[in-house]
Amino acid sequence: SHQKYIRNFSIIAHIDHGKSTLSDRLLEAIGLLKDKSSEQVLDSMEVEKEHGITVKAHTVTGFYKAQDGNTYQLNFIDTPGHVDFNYEVSRSLKACEGVLLVIDATQGIQAQTLSNFYLALEENLVIIPVINKIDLPSAHIDMVKEQIEKDLGLDPAEALLISAKTGLGIDTVLEAIVQRIPAPKGDIHSPLRALVFDSYYDSYLGVVAKVRVFDGSIKKGDAITFMLSQKNYQVEEVGYTQIKLVPQSELRAGKVGYITAAIKSISDFGVGDTITWTNKPCAEPLPGYKEVKPYVFAGLFPAEGEDFEDLHEALMKLKLNDAALTFEKWNSAALGMGFKCGFLGLLHLQIVQERLDKEFDLAIITTIPSVEYRITLSDGSIMMIESATELPDQSKIRQIEEPFVLSHIILPNEYLGAILQLIQDRRGIQRNMIYIDTDRVEIIAELPLAEIIYDFYDKLKSFSRGYASFDYEFLEFRPSEIIKLDILVNGKVVDALAQMVHKDTAYERGRSVVTRLKDLIPQHLFVIPLQAAIGSKIIARETIKALRKDVLAKCYGGDITRKRKLLEKQKEGKKRMRTIGNVDIPQEAFIEVLKRG
Ligand code: GDP
Ligand code: MG
Repeated sequence: SHQKYIRNFSIIAHIDHGKSTLSDRLLEAIGLLKDKSSEQVLDSMEVEKEHGITVKAHTVTGFYKAQDGNTYQLNFIDTPGHVDFNYEVSRSLKACEGVLLVIDATQGIQAQTLSNFYLALEENLVIIPVINKIDLPSAHIDMVKEQIEKDLGLDPAEALLISAKTGLGIDTVLEAIVQRIPAPKGDIHSPLRALVFDSYYDSYLGVVAKVRVFDGSIKKGDAITFMLSQKNYQVEEVGYTQIKLVPQSELRAGKVGYITAAIKSISDFGVGDTITWTNKPCAEPLPGYKEVKPYVFAGLFPAEGEDFEDLHEALMKLKLNDAALTFEKWNSAALGMGFKCGFLGLLHLQIVQERLDKEFDLAIITTIPSVEYRITLSDGSIMMIESATELPDQSKIRQIEEPFVLSHIILPNEYLGAILQLIQDRRGIQRNMIYIDTDRVEIIAELPLAEIIYDFYDKLKSFSRGYASFDYEFLEFRPSEIIKLDILVNGKVVDALAQMVHKDTAYERGRSVVTRLKDLIPQHLFVIPLQAAIGSKIIARETIKALRKDVLAKCYGGDITRKRKLLEKQKEGKKRMRTIGNVDIPQEAFIEVLKRG
């Protein structure tokens, strides 16, 4: 059958181990990358280029003539490696029969190598270990092979040795894909069953749904039903994603591609849905996806109040492309109408904020991110809050619980002391320590989620010279001595800066927030007192001095072009500021204040 010559696979790895570079080499091999000088072409989003990381899973279809003389259709998905985007990986895997598990020969197996490996194992996928960067003098091929055997339980003899950078060994990767990854086994004669594993909004085409066809086939003109949302549409176009969309006459069982159906109402469209024929539906939808639970919450407000509807529209469109994002309307005393959004981590939040700016041209104010707290009230009832402003009056609270996670940290022995100290500083409880081999150790620790979402990863990296990696999963809610820290700017409580803190760190945190705010808020024509308070008690104080009038006076008169430039600059700057009371607060202040020195 036609499926014999199809291979669907994902490329998975720890961050920076070379997934996107390997994707480039595969694109070359299938003739989709002509210009050898271009790099990481699949990381097409502006935010991806800027950060040099993959944020979205990217799908490509190409054709490869194998040594057996047959031409194979390869559908592959480059995936992100950062823990915040794990959900992208797990969704991608549902469209595949196999994975290339890339391991950096100089770094060996890291935390996300393991977590991605387990995701692939759960989906029963064929796993091809690929040892990358063997061109580097610091490559430890034998060590990595040993880890493949011990940590993953795979046969190290099956590992491929490559350099994605130089192209060495890429031919062995292509042949292994053809020989080891099984062909899809759908039934072409059954009614259509296609999984929507990703989507995005295009202003001309409407929703573009990335699909994996499991059974049946789909072509232009077909009447289709989205089984979960119970919406009916008529297919306008089907095709392959070959960096651009390339229309085809039909997508048959086993294939990966896209469909459009002039879907303009985006609010009820969901990733994980199953598409079937309206007139001859399949018996049951595909398993779809587990609902993701966001870990981190923050208010998103338009910098310009009148952009509220635009922000709503933008969030709906973004959600099509980022199923892990959640949002609901939220009214803040200081910031007006906006949305309370849920994210999988702080990087996720930053990426969403940047995408709203770059892709939707919306300047956004983000409030202080928070985890979720479970509050038991004195009458025994339970409420969940996702921001300090929702905290009920102290007299009504019996108990506050905060989320704990179980974290796995892998690091070279020499940094053990520093990392154990870090865990302790973050109120962590060490549960276990496993010497993986002669020079690596795995620490298993319970940590309050609130202590790791902000800068734990950065600290971990800097304390271990980049060698430690970590991964975490939700454990449980635990009673904790959490109190609300208020921040007053110019004598006024700013609800968007209020935060929940542990009693023991309240003073330190209050001090650090006002010190940071002092650097973040520009000078004004008047003195601005900054205060941190618990209840009515002020625990820290800083003052921003007034701008001297003569500095400003210089701007007036004089060179007209200089003046205009200055005004433009001010306008640009203004877009990124929010006036609270009569003080301009820059948008990044709301996240930056949380980072600890
Ligand atoms: P990803 O995060 O897994 O997608 O990793 P990237 O493909 O973005 O690669 C991370 C870094 O490693 C980039 O600077 C690449 O140029 C570099 N890199 C990737 N593969 C190789 C390789 O085979 N050899 C060397 N020397 N560098 C590589
Ligand atoms: Mg990448």
